[in-house]
Amino acid sequence: MNKGFFIILTLFFGLLSAQKNAYSQQHAKYKMDIDVDAKNYTYEGKQTLTYTNNSPDELNVVYFHLYWNAFKPGSMMDQRVTSQGKNGDSRLQINGVSTLASIPKDEEGAQNIHWIKQNGKDLKFEIQETIMKVYLNSPLKANSSTLFTMEWDAVIPMQIRRAGRNNREGIDMTVTQWYPKIAEYDYDGWATFDYIGREFHAPFSDYEVNIKIDKNYVIGAGGTLENPLEVKGYDPKATLKTDKNNKTTWKWTAKNLLDFAWAADRDYTVDSFVVLNGPKVYYVYQKSEKTKYWEESKPFVTQFFQIMNATFGRYVYPSYSFIQGGDGGMEYGMCTMMLGEARTLDGLVGLMVHEGGHSYNQQIMAYNESMRPWMDEGFTSYYDDIIMHQLFPPKSPQANPFTTSIDRYRNFVKRGIEEPAGWLGDHHDNGNAYSFATYYKGELFLVQLGYIMGEQNLALVMRTFYNEWNLKHPTDRDFMNIAQKISGMDLKWFHHYWINTTKTIDYGIKEVKYDENSTTITLENKGTIPMPIDFSILTADKKVVNFQIPLNMTQTWKSKDIYGDFKTIPYWPWTQKEYTLTIPYSKSQISALGIDFSQRLADVNLEDNLVEVK
Ligand SMILES: [Zn+2]
Repeated sequence: MNKGFFIILTLFFGLLSAQKNAYSQQHAKYKMDIDVDAKNYTYEGKQTLTYTNNSPDELNVVYFHLYWNAFKPGSMMDQRVTSQGKNGDSRLQINGVSTLASIPKDEEGAQNIHWIKQNGKDLKFEIQETIMKVYLNSPLKANSSTLFTMEWDAVIPMQIRRAGRNNREGIDMTVTQWYPKIAEYDYDGWATFDYIGREFHAPFSDYEVNIKIDKNYVIGAGGTLENPLEVKGYDPKATLKTDKNNKTTWKWTAKNLLDFAWAADRDYTVDSFVVLNGPKVYYVYQKSEKTKYWEESKPFVTQFFQIMNATFGRYVYPSYSFIQGGDGGMEYGMCTMMLGEARTLDGLVGLMVHEGGHSYNQQIMAYNESMRPWMDEGFTSYYDDIIMHQLFPPKSPQANPFTTSIDRYRNFVKRGIEEPAGWLGDHHDNGNAYSFATYYKGELFLVQLGYIMGEQNLALVMRTFYNEWNLKHPTDRDFMNIAQKISGMDLKWFHHYWINTTKTIDYGIKEVKYDENSTTITLENKGTIPMPIDFSILTADKKVVNFQIPLNMTQTWKSKDIYGDFKTIPYWPWTQKEYTLTIPYSKSQISALGIDFSQRLADVNLEDNLVEVK
């Protein structure tokens, strides 16, 4: 082969393989006209969807989610709640018995597809409860777009789980995951998870949604209201523009969201305020004695956005709405649906901080919730603890903002029902196992990384991760890539132990021997996850002296940490069960010695971590 030709060939295949591995993401653009029959909790919908296939693959089918089909007796959601019994989702049952089983026929949730066309031609489709498979007439080639049109009607379900009607706080309709929604397609294939009450995933989409509804309703939504002067609640100068049926049309737009969600009620009040260098914040809720803390929460919510912007990254959308609706709290694009009645201010702010935090971890950083729920809930919980610690400082000082979460994890492990964080969100058999695997293990994943690499490095990892991946669909592999580059450490072992297993950390002090001018300590690894060890002494004159015992597997040791300056001593090979160190302090010079004075290490047994010298 001619050398020049060989070079061209190499370049060509090099380019081809680079392209094959390049990141891409799909895009959807919805235009919807919705006509709501508020009395009967139904609506008719028309949708025009421009779908762009940016993947390197040719698509012969596309999938849509029809979430509301889950809200009926005998559905997969009902089956799951029934078979899980008391270990299942308490919001879908009374004393372990599914409340879906008793929904009357005319109050069942439904999304009835009348027809779907591609570029004007009818398409064949099949529905398996909450998933619709659509066969394309002509394949959708890589890097091309197609136009779907569709008509359907829907019944807002009686049962509330995320969406539904007449929630317990008296909100008429919470309308989320409510339209035929195209599924996400990426390197992992189609995200066709059946809806059983929990996780979502979707491509980033643009929206133009016109909602026609009885003029007495006020709508709260995640998006921009384009005609506040024609509808109720948003502008005191508004003159309602009604049609012959006494309905007004609400015109909403949004860009780059995973979902367009809204709620409607006749008794909503709309409040708003602007966060400096942040979003315009809307509060849409029923003003009453029971919701009195909403007013007081405003300065805290302002600080929340400011801290998130400074520590993680800048919020990218123009507004954010806290909407009283739904059940508990659930995040959507540019808004949350949350229960609004609160017994305490910090309880309400805590919920707002958590759900608002999801606009970063879940919406802007759009992880696949079904496959990696621990990133979505865990990273959100991590910032919850940091921010709530600042907004409502604890009465007695804590070693770090995460001590309560670490304690809860420690107590949970003792119950012996833990499941790995890497497990699929909807497939945990026990609701508690789900919560700990996702919220707590996910949060402590970051806390342990802060301990291993130092907090300054972790902060830089988080900001870099946000900068590189905002408005994309990062995975844990993308996160680990940045974490390893910034810290210079090998951290694959930690990711694997922590996320894919239920192994635990347990180090202890086995023996302390005092000599005339020194003290010799033997430490023991009694657990199943190896970790680097921070070892410290509190001297008799109340000074803290820190030593770092690196774990050989990280290859590089931490250089700084806000929890103290660490003198690095010889490393601990992960295969070795014991480690002995001698420090140049006599017994009379020491008042205490122990493992991890910062209390970040998720050691499951603290009893043997500290020795007080008397
Ligand atoms: Zn959450």
